[in-house]
Amino acid sequence: MSVDKTDLQVSLKKYFGFSKFKGLQENVVKSILSGKHTFVIMPTGGGKSLCYQLPALMQEGTAIVVSPLIALMKNQVDAIRGVSNQEGIAHVLNSSLNKTEVKRVKEDIVSGVTKLLYVAPESLTKEENVDFLRSVKISFLAIDEAHCISEWGHDFRPEYRNLRSIIGRIGENIPIIGLTATATPKVQEDIIKNLGITGANTFKASFNRPNLYYEVRPKTKNVDADIIRFIKQNEGKSGIVYCLSRKRVEELAQVLQVNGINAVPYHAGLDAKTRSSHQDKFLMEDVDVVVATIAFGMGIDKPDVRFVIHHDIPKSIESYYQETGRAGRDGGEGHCLAYYSYKDIEKLEKFMSGKPVAEQEIGQALLQEMVAFAETSISRRKFILHYFGEEFDNETGEGGDMDDNVRNPKKQHEAEDEVKL
Ligand code: ADP
Ligand code: MG
Repeated sequence: MSVDKTDLQVSLKKYFGFSKFKGLQENVVKSILSGKHTFVIMPTGGGKSLCYQLPALMQEGTAIVVSPLIALMKNQVDAIRGVSNQEGIAHVLNSSLNKTEVKRVKEDIVSGVTKLLYVAPESLTKEENVDFLRSVKISFLAIDEAHCISEWGHDFRPEYRNLRSIIGRIGENIPIIGLTATATPKVQEDIIKNLGITGANTFKASFNRPNLYYEVRPKTKNVDADIIRFIKQNEGKSGIVYCLSRKRVEELAQVLQVNGINAVPYHAGLDAKTRSSHQDKFLMEDVDVVVATIAFGMGIDKPDVRFVIHHDIPKSIESYYQETGRAGRDGGEGHCLAYYSYKDIEKLEKFMSGKPVAEQEIGQALLQEMVAFAETSISRRKFILHYFGEEFDNETGEGGDMDDNVRNPKKQHEAEDEVKL
């Protein structure tokens, strides 16, 4: 399908109300419309959804979107229905639907109304769904969060491994679009290989977040007091404090409360009602700080988070990047402060020790990169971007002076242990 620039602009405005594409979106949309396999690597918040939603809406047939999280699929479907004012334009196909609902979805697809069909990978594997999808016109197949395919990603899901063969059964020449916010070369290779899309048009945005300030402090027994001091210096600002365990989340939230900080805990052990009430309070600014496990954050879009503190070091640089990435979404200030002690690394190693050997090896390698990051004396930003396969020049690059190692170069690495907090 060939379209000119004005068609794209008109459709962008019509379906989304935006007057400009963000970053590489326009080129990605063109690539998809031309029917080529396409691979998109953009940081979270980069605007990946629009990359496949717009061409889906512009083309004949139904685009299948594979996504790992039901909540995210529902959000997207609601958003698309909202802009188009047409219920059947987007559907989710999953095992929670009853017979009547499934029938309705299928009718909408057959009649050509449905432009986007969201499915979880396990629904796609079902024989009856494969048979049905073979019989209808599919515009392309998009795999969101495509890093789930790779054991080197932070969220490996075995059911993503079968996608390629299922796609082959649905149709022979279906264009495949992979999208991810994981930028490591290893994960990218895995995705390309597993989806069989060698030679795909690849679009990679920069992962630099110039407005974020990166800092690592040694973790001593006074870490809680240090965190309290930091938060008090940032009074009235919104922030997230990540801890490894639910227990630590509860304890720290209490310590903060006792010290007059408006904080709530968040972890998967809390009941759904408490979780959503705490999340809402944070979004509505009834509380300043959420103390959380990594269960908090996926799909949460609060633009003015001013700091992200890691009470415990994350298990990989990808996790660190994702979690710190929740700060400063609006382009304003975002302070990323991580506490590091080698003891915590040993704890993380212990967690892994029950896992299969292959998984442990990967986990170790990722963890060692994290250690290197925490202990490095070179620019944190340079380190992160290098890890993601990007060269960064602190002299000329945006945000070149926005980390502790650039602001206060370390003379001697050993001196770190002596720092008094
Ligand atoms: P990602 O999946 O890459 O994390 P999303 O697709 O969720 O990002 O988009 C992030 C935000 O950017 C959304 O709020 C979306 O509405 C907004 N957005 C996307 N494209 C544009 C655009 N062209 N102009 C303005 N806002 C955009
Ligand atoms: Mg997304």
